[in-house]
Amino acid sequence: MTTIAFIGLGHMGGPMAHNLLKAEHRVRAFDLSADAVKHAAEAGAVAATSVADAVKDADVIITMLPAGTHVMQVYLQDDGIFAAARKDALLIDCSTIDIADARVVHAGAISHGFDSLDAPVSGGVGGAEAGTLAFMCGGSDAAFARAQPILEKMGKRIVHAGGAGAGQAAKICNNMLLAISMIGTCEAFALGEKLGLEHGKLYDIMSAASGQCWSLTTYCPVPGPVPASPANRDYSGGFATALMLKDLKLSQAAAQRAGAATPLGAEAAQLYALFAAQGHGGMDFSGIIKMLRGEA
Ligand code: NAD
Repeated sequence: MTTIAFIGLGHMGGPMAHNLLKAEHRVRAFDLSADAVKHAAEAGAVAATSVADAVKDADVIITMLPAGTHVMQVYLQDDGIFAAARKDALLIDCSTIDIADARVVHAGAISHGFDSLDAPVSGGVGGAEAGTLAFMCGGSDAAFARAQPILEKMGKRIVHAGGAGAGQAAKICNNMLLAISMIGTCEAFALGEKLGLEHGKLYDIMSAASGQCWSLTTYCPVPGPVPASPANRDYSGGFATALMLKDLKLSQAAAQRAGAATPLGAEAAQLYALFAAQGHGGMDFSGIIKMLRGEA
């Protein structure tokens, strides 16, 4: 039985830790929120009192934290992971953070002698609960091989994208494309409405034509054609605009550093920033159709 320290038991980390418990791993759980720790303990985890207490004796250490600053703190602080973990522990960060921050964590891990992996996810809270997340991993072959059987308990697609930071890179490339394709899909429906086209007819035509894409056929931003999409529940649940904006900002910071031209990514970041500033940060990101129609 593997002992896993799980740090960050929020919307994603809570259910991910729960799936590790269901797979009969020993989980030592820590979060700054006492309620989150209590919830994990009720599901069978050992309640840890600090990062150091969580990681002592752990074979694997998983972090699922809001942003790079939290990850750096938990790894680098005096009684943090690098200081307190067993030297043969495997370090896996599943948070979505800046590639540069991820590489700092990897470099620290190497200098302390740890195997490490950046392994951000897609699939949202539903995927975390169902154990069907997709993990995009960056790190050595050895680290990936050690992590794979653990990640399989929380996800259904585990991909080794490349070396240090490659998981974060893959994640922001994908989400930048998603944002652009969602805005394009919304614009097509908003134009169709003005031209007198019914949603269902336009959907049937585009989904069987060259405009077909995930944003249209799996996550349709108008109610009706895809009953499970958030548009059918007034854009509640799903993937929050604030999280999409976070990922777009990471993509733009990375593009600037790498000297990559991403004009549509930049425009998507501007549009989502505007939508969030109008008070819609909690709304599903497909709700941006309201702003494009001039309703929000
Ligand atoms: P969340 O805010 O619900 O959870 C984060 C948890 O980390 C909180 O419980 C918080 O108390 C804890 N925390 C913060 N600082 C800490 C510290 N120093 N020590 C211990 N615990 C600390 O966030 P979330 O929605 O679970 O997202 C986690 C990560 O997953 C983020 O990087 C996010 O971008 C990424 N992500 C989220 C989703 C989603 O749909 N929510 C989807 C994909 C990826």
